[in-house]
Amino acid sequence: MKSICEWSELLYKDVTETPNIIPVTDSYGNGEHVNIDYDNIKISNMKIVMKKNFEAELYCSTCSELRNTAVKNLHTNLNSNKIETIIKESRYKDDAPRSFEEYYKFIINKLNVALSPSLWEVTCLQCKSKSYLFIYTNINGQQIIHLSETINGVSTPNTPYEVSYYLDQAHKSKIIGANSAAVVMYRTALEHLLYNQGYTKGMLNAKINELENGINSGTAPRWALNLDVEILKIIKDLGNGAAHTNKGDITKQYLFDSEIVNKLDLVFKYLLDEVYEIEIKRNKLVTKLKDVRNQI
Ligand SMILES: [Zn+2]
Repeated sequence: MKSICEWSELLYKDVTETPNIIPVTDSYGNGEHVNIDYDNIKISNMKIVMKKNFEAELYCSTCSELRNTAVKNLHTNLNSNKIETIIKESRYKDDAPRSFEEYYKFIINKLNVALSPSLWEVTCLQCKSKSYLFIYTNINGQQIIHLSETINGVSTPNTPYEVSYYLDQAHKSKIIGANSAAVVMYRTALEHLLYNQGYTKGMLNAKINELENGINSGTAPRWALNLDVEILKIIKDLGNGAAHTNKGDITKQYLFDSEIVNKLDLVFKYLLDEVYEIEIKRNKLVTKLKDVRNQI
């Protein structure tokens, strides 16, 4: 979820019976492109209700996937009286709306602003785990903090501590919306993963190159043989982008939204499975089958 605005379609319902659009006309009766009285641009009987329960596709940190979730409002100041007041007091200032839809969007933006602060309970419909969304506004605009009552980070049972430490740091950064910090932590987690696998020389770039050479010459570990090394290069480049000055262009950091950070979680989950889990799982399975065979 990039911003609360993505929820708008689920969150609000237009229950205006017959939109009564106050016409914009000049004294000669022309409908458009004339002296517009901005105070008159409104739907005089617009009525919008906010749903306190709805279903939405959100990231579940227990499943580490996008899941259908039940969202329930626990606290908001945006009650029906406030919605009514916002509709009544909102006026277009610059561009007059030409349609009901335009005016509706304009009002919804106002309602979204008034959603700060609010608290929402999110229940994953698959694993039933609960998480909480806290929406508030700081000097950078509206922020969403996503707190889960279950797992922290994407570490798997056999992930070495030095890797899981940085994945936990990434997770902690992510839940408070410090996405640039999270992206740097993923890069460091990757460097530790490669170090742990015996790629100890040089910086991350050198480690990835050594692995790539190993893949090409067939000497790389088994988990790497089907790996698309580009994935590792992307994690490295994103981490560099989050840490470097980028010629003073701070706006690049806005690219690191919660969707990107969730995707990095998924990439790491895949990597950790390949590197630390699949072989152990396979060995366990084979051992069990061998035990049975030996008893025949
Ligand atoms: Zn789940």
